[in-house]
Parts: sequence; structure tokens; C-alpha cells
Amino acid sequence: MDDLLTDFIAETRETLEALAGEIVAWEADPADKTRLDAIFRFVHTVKGSCGFLDLPRLGKLSHAAEDCLAEVRSGTRTPDAALVSAVLAIIDRIGELTDALEANETLPEGEDEFLVAALAPGHAAPAADNPAAISKISVMPGNPVTRTVSRSIRLPVELLDRMMAGVSDMVLARNELSRLLRASGGNSTTDLDISQVIYPSSGYLSKKGMIVGYYQIGAEAGVTGARSHSERETIALTQGAVIHPQYPQEFETSFSVSWHRVPWTRGGWASWSADGRKTTYAAMVKGDRRMYFAGDHMTYLIGWMNGALESDRSVASAIHARAAQERTVAVS
Ligand SMILES: Cc1cc2nc3c(=O)[nH]c(=O)nc-3n(C[C@H](O)[C@H](O)[C@H](O)COP(=O)(O)OP(=O)(O)OC[C@H]3O[C@@H](n4cnc5c(N)ncnc54)[C@H](O)[C@@H]3O)c2cc1C
Repeated sequence: MDDLLTDFIAETRETLEALAGEIVAWEADPADKTRLDAIFRFVHTVKGSCGFLDLPRLGKLSHAAEDCLAEVRSGTRTPDAALVSAVLAIIDRIGELTDALEANETLPEGEDEFLVAALAPGHAAPAADNPAAISKISVMPGNPVTRTVSRSIRLPVELLDRMMAGVSDMVLARNELSRLLRASGGNSTTDLDISQVIYPSSGYLSKKGMIVGYYQIGAEAGVTGARSHSERETIALTQGAVIHPQYPQEFETSFSVSWHRVPWTRGGWASWSADGRKTTYAAMVKGDRRMYFAGDHMTYLIGWMNGALESDRSVASAIHARAAQERTVAVS
């Protein structure tokens, strides 16, 4: 195969690949002049090359398609379904013949005539009312050229590679995000008044979830706690949007608790002074006869459920031991 032919095959295939999207778009909207021009340029180029490469079959097909498209461009023909289908069938055929050229194969010649005949004005459009059925360009009884109603899309292999690489990147990014959320303990720590944004510890990447929009302790909690709920909500949303700009669009509803304002609780948790630990705490941990004190504040794990459970267990053991001792005394 000479160099010119090799170049022609490579260029035709490349253009067909690049044109795949244009072809699909033109099929969906035959009035689209930009797509029409792109397809016209393609058949025009193929026709021109076939002249000096001595490829009469390809030349005839591309010439016929070029003439037909020229009429559409000049406005003398309307690109109806039959015309679009016929042009696309010729482009398919150009692709097949190009492949055959490279493989040094021969395709049946007769079908070319039917494809060209299908370009004629008034030629019946292929049936498209039954999507399950195969539509045929009825070019000759008993010898139809078949094209499915839902056209296949030609995509350059390189584009597919890029798509697959993109999908892989997205999966990796998603996993990395998930890992980062876990690794960071599900918190964004800030130097803003809101202090932290705390994320759910399960259901990552779900559509909806509940987050802690601000978390304050000490004097800051006192200041924010003195505000109304709607003011607290505004602070959380305004400052949180610095990290999560989608807040204004995605936020639905909120509630807030200022623990030091809750009657009978008056704080998130207790705290002991060093002296208190030696005196009051030591006395309360022991209890007084049938009186026991339990809770995280009765441990060194204040503010943690762990402390509450530890204390509960310790008190339950103390009650059990006392009851067992009283029973022994009563029996003896
Ligand atoms: C904002 C905040 C965040 C926290 N985050 C975490 C966390 O991430 N992880 C963690 O491990 N711990 C956390 N804790 C701590 C944890 O909630 C507590 O350590 C735990 O709930 C204490 O359990 P408890 O049974 O000792 O007391 P509580 O859960 O406080 O139970 C005491 C109960 O007694 C009731 N009560 C009080 N007075 C009376 C009365 N006179 N008569 C009848 N009932 C009464 C109260 O209504 C309450 O239901 C957090 C606490 C707060 C406030």
C-alpha cells in the first residue's frame, strides 16, 4: 500500500472518529447548520482524495452525499428523516470501505447503488415507529441495507481511555474523601466562632444527613447561648459556608441547645476542682448507706459516656455487695 493511500485511510478514520459526535447531533437536529457543514466538509474531502487515489467506489458515494448536502446547504432541499438516514448510511459505508481498503478486502459493490438511490428526493424514510425492530433503508427488495434505529455512536478509543481514567479518578477521589472524613474524626476544626463542624459518623456520602454546625464550650458558649436560636443558626450558616459554600442551597432545618440554660442541668457536664476531688468527690463516690451517686461526674472521665457507664457499673457493684452482706447478716 502506498503512502498516500495509508495517509488517506488514517485521515478518513480520524475524521470519522472526530465527526461521530457531530453526526449524532445532526441526526437529532438536521437543521443544525454547523453540523451539516462539518459533514459536508468530510464527504467533500473524501471525494477530492478519491479522484487522485483512483478509488471510484468511495468517490461515487462521497460525491452523491456531497451533492445532496449541497442542496440542503443552499436551501433547495429540506433534510427530512429519509435524507438524514441516507446520508448517514453513506458515511457508514465510507467507513466500511476504508476498513476494507486497509484489510485489502472487497465489499459487495451492488449495495453502493442502493445507498445512492436512497438519497433521491421522495425516497421513503426507514421505519422508526417500532424501536425494537430493525429499520432498514429499503433500497432494493430482498437486498436491504440494514441500520438500527438507535444508531451506534463511534467514539475514539483515546476518548474512551480518557473517560475510563476519569471514572477511576472519581472513584479514587471518593474513597480518599471518605478516608479523610474517617481519619479526621469527622470534624472540621476552625478558628471561627463556630469552633468546629462535626459530620455524621456513618452514612458517608448519603444524600442527607445531620451535622453539628457549631460546638462551643466555656465563655464562647456563654455568648452564643445568650442569643436566640435563629441568631445562632445564622452564625453557624454564615461561618460554616466558608468551608461548605453549598450551605445556603442545601440547608433545611436546625435546632440548638445551650446546656447551661437547661433547667436542673445548667451545663454540659460537671467539673471538679483539685480540692473538690479530695473532699466532696471522695465522699460522694463512697455514697452514704442507701444513698448512691452515679454518672460521668462521679469518675475521672467527665463528659464521656464511658465515664457514665463506668460509674453505673461501680455503683451497681456496690449495691450488690451491700445487699449480699445484709442478706448474710439477716440469715445468720
Ligand atoms: C454537648 C455534649 C456532647 C457530648 N458528646 C459526647 C460524645 O461525643 N461522646 C461521649 O462519650 N460523651 C459525650 N457527652 C457526654 C455524655 O452525654 C454524658 O457523659 C452522658 O450522657 C452522661 O450519662 P449519665 O447517665 O451520667 O447522665 P445523663 O445522660 O445526663 O442522665 C441523667 C438523667 O437524669 C435526669 N434527671 C436529672 N435530675 C433529675 C431528677 N431530679 N429527677 C429525675 N430525673 C432527673 C436527666 O433529665 C437525665 O435524663 C456529651 C455531652 C454533651 C452535653
